[in-house]
Amino acid sequence: MTQAAEPSQERLKQELDHLLQRLSRTRLRKGDPPDQALLRPARKPVYLLLRDHERAERLAQQLEFFGLSAQPLFDAGAFMASVAEQPPAAIVMDVDFDGPGGGVPLAARVQQGQEQAVPLLFFSHHETDTPTRLAAVRAGGQAFLTGTLEASSLLEKLEMITSTAPHDPLRVLIIDDSRTQALHTERVLANAGMITRSLTDPIRTMAELAEFQPDLIILDLYMPGCSGPELAKVIRHNDRYVSVPIIYLSAEDDLDKQLDAMSEGGDDFLTKPIRSRHLITTVRNRAARARHLKARMVRDSLTGLYNHTHILQLLEDCSFRARRERQPLSFAMLDIDHFKKINDHHGHPMGDRVIKSLALFLKQRLRKSDFIGRYGGEEFAIVMPNTALDAAHKVLDEIRRRFAEILYPAQPSDLQCTFSAGVVQMDEELDALTMASAADEALYRAKHAGRNCVVRVEP
Ligand SMILES: [Mg+2]
Repeated sequence: MTQAAEPSQERLKQELDHLLQRLSRTRLRKGDPPDQALLRPARKPVYLLLRDHERAERLAQQLEFFGLSAQPLFDAGAFMASVAEQPPAAIVMDVDFDGPGGGVPLAARVQQGQEQAVPLLFFSHHETDTPTRLAAVRAGGQAFLTGTLEASSLLEKLEMITSTAPHDPLRVLIIDDSRTQALHTERVLANAGMITRSLTDPIRTMAELAEFQPDLIILDLYMPGCSGPELAKVIRHNDRYVSVPIIYLSAEDDLDKQLDAMSEGGDDFLTKPIRSRHLITTVRNRAARARHLKARMVRDSLTGLYNHTHILQLLEDCSFRARRERQPLSFAMLDIDHFKKINDHHGHPMGDRVIKSLALFLKQRLRKSDFIGRYGGEEFAIVMPNTALDAAHKVLDEIRRRFAEILYPAQPSDLQCTFSAGVVQMDEELDALTMASAADEALYRAKHAGRNCVVRVEP
């Protein structure tokens, strides 16, 4: 590349970015508020540093297919130069890149030169020992993959460690009959960046839980009408809140009473007066851990989408909210056409690949505020808040059209897949369950109408 060519290349790149941004605008819905119309910044690449160069190239191609820009690099010099030129979205580093064990110090060196830590993922073809993993952690590694590096599992991890969405603040519900005490706790936690709410009347607990969806509950021990341990049991009797941490905060300093309370569904006992820092750290650790576990519980392992149970719960939550706020809500069910044939003719790995690609396709093309679930084998469900039937139908039909254009390389000829969908809007008569069955019925009609179409349930 000559020196003179560089400026025009740069301009070309800018124009390309601009065009890409305009393209990405096409997926936005009419009537979207302006803040949702904000475009994603131009994509930074992911640098792939694997000992097996051929695999790195192949992996990069597959990642591109999923819409991620990946660049394989083959030696330390090229890596350093590339990072200096363009900091990546993430680094995937083979621990044995640049010689046995050489990947870790190399990544650490590059990381030190960065103003902001670059998301870093280590990979080892073989199962590794603790010292290697420890070195990876010390080098700033956020994840560690072993075995055969596959595009989909890599993508999943990358999505997890690079999710630029600002971390959702932790949500803490404080239940205490003393308003003064509750306000004090609220203030301490709010100052630490958490979203708090307090409840002085324990009888309203279940409604408040459904509405606020806290990551953690701080519970008083002695309240009129209902004791803390009694309330903890009530909370635990609901499957949805079995794993929400409950921390007692009380002046009770009798250890036996504390232990009794703990054995009734509590996770920890903090004694008043308590240092702010102690309270914040305990709450933050417990809540973050619970959130992490919950994310695993509610997600489907193949696609990373919400699982069947959780998407139905979300539909229920959203329909309550929609009713209260008098906003429209749509719900759709999708099913990949002739999926059995794909599995029979091309094998299950191809079937999985189609499922994963539809999952990614939906994630990319729907709004952040929409909820996507894997409903069953090749069935998907989508909850679309603040969306009326017309808009939902239009968006789904556009996705359907685009999805049908994807070619999956296969023998003897490339594979093309389609899906059918049914979509319904909530109204006075429909609760979450009837909505789900109405969408299912519409999906059935779409299948009978010849597939590859979206059928709407007219109100
Ligand atoms: Mg009290």
